[in-house]
Amino acid sequence: MKSADFYCEGEKKIPIKGCYDVIVCGGGASGFIAAVASSRAGARTLLIERYGFPGGTATAGMMVEFGSIYDGRDVIVGGITHEFLHRLEKFGGVNMKDDKSHAMVFDPESMIMVSLKMLIESGCEIMFHTLVCEPIIENNVVKGVITESKSGREAFSGKVVIDTTGDADIAARAGARYEIGHGNEKQFQPVTLEVIIGNCDGTRIQSSLAQNKVFIEQAREKGDWTIPTERLFSWGRVKKRGAPENIESCFYFFNATNVLNVNGCNTQDLTRAEIEARGQVEGFVNFLKNYVRGFENCYLDRTAAQVGIRETRRIIGDYILTREDVLSGKHFEDGVVPGCNSIDVHDSSGKDFVHEFLKEGEHYEIPYRCFLPANLEGILVGGRCISADYRALGSTRVMVVCMPIGEAIGTAASMAIAENCLPRRIMVQKLKETLKTVGMKLE
Ligand SMILES: Cc1cc2nc3c(=O)[nH]c(=O)nc-3n(C[C@H](O)[C@H](O)[C@H](O)COP(=O)(O)OP(=O)(O)OC[C@H]3O[C@@H](n4cnc5c(N)ncnc54)[C@H](O)[C@@H]3O)c2cc1C
Repeated sequence: MKSADFYCEGEKKIPIKGCYDVIVCGGGASGFIAAVASSRAGARTLLIERYGFPGGTATAGMMVEFGSIYDGRDVIVGGITHEFLHRLEKFGGVNMKDDKSHAMVFDPESMIMVSLKMLIESGCEIMFHTLVCEPIIENNVVKGVITESKSGREAFSGKVVIDTTGDADIAARAGARYEIGHGNEKQFQPVTLEVIIGNCDGTRIQSSLAQNKVFIEQAREKGDWTIPTERLFSWGRVKKRGAPENIESCFYFFNATNVLNVNGCNTQDLTRAEIEARGQVEGFVNFLKNYVRGFENCYLDRTAAQVGIRETRRIIGDYILTREDVLSGKHFEDGVVPGCNSIDVHDSSGKDFVHEFLKEGEHYEIPYRCFLPANLEGILVGGRCISADYRALGSTRVMVVCMPIGEAIGTAASMAIAENCLPRRIMVQKLKETLKTVGMKLE
């Protein structure tokens, strides 16, 4: 960026509001950890997020269940993710399933508080309520971003730009190649609006998958079930921080609504999804009251701020992680993120999902190349939109994988700053060694 005060976007002069080492676009599970990692490592870091709080799909979307960081033999994830899980547990609002795996259901308010505190402590600068809309590119190198907000259109220069928007918005607009959806017809996994239900009698709840399927079938026969799915995908008790321990009147989250054929990068589709999903909620609460033991006197506590998106863009990186890599527990010379979560792909008809598991005691690694868009420089991509086939995505999209991806790319960005080189040129073995020292289980 040449001009000191303005960036010229065509005819328009956009004020340059700041110059940073690292700009992180999107503060969800992956982006908030990336910003903490980069800032702690000494890079002047700016996090830009469209909502007024961090957490993204976890908090705004109320996906309140962390999977496992234990592969059946070892705890494989250390570093900032591990620290965050411990701090969340200590803060409260957590329903721990198992100490080793750290699998838990959490109150989204607790995640907002803890992640925001970690961001502030790290010293990174934060801009909420700001949409990153365009990259600034010179000779195929991303050099900054343009934002839109209540303050108008503004520009920020960054030596390294990190795209953790979940949809690879910035990489795609910079010209990165990507795939979207899956199959020849470009199908999408359904989207789901999460709900939290109050006044559930935990002493009487006996929900099991099989039982719920029977209840759904009974309700469908009477016209009381109109959601296009034959099952509930997940549910669990949410313990709100500071709330009295009253199991007769507690909170449950449900991953139950379902809207089909939604492209999460298309605003018309997203609008339809919000309207359809919200239209399903009342019928769902009535279904719980009338068919499921323990929920007779329940009520709707809250819905998420937006529908949860399972898949949109996946960049084409220097390497594409495959289903076989995940299931065979493949390790790579440039493997920098360990993952052990099963592959979970929902069929686009909404009926069910396919779960494929790694062998007990095994985990896979994600190569650094999966974060580097093949034809672009100056940018790293993390979280749900990394370079993976759509089945591998079924594992890499879970939060306990997105978070260590954030740590790997935040650390890599700070190394690029320290070494004064492009992210593609950093010494990957040094990155790997650094991540091993914080407890990432890498070969
Ligand atoms: C229904 C459903 C159930 C799920 N269940 C689980 C589960 O049980 N366990 C689990 O681990 N995972 C689950 N997941 C997956 C997981 O929640 C997400 O894949 C993961 O949270 C994605 O993290 P991320 O950081 O990549 O993206 P996000 O969390 O989506 O973060 C992206 C952030 O970028 C911001 N943003 C986007 N575009 C812009 C822009 N242009 N400018 C500025 N900011 C922007 C967003 O506001 C958001 O904060 C589920 C997902 C769904 C949809």
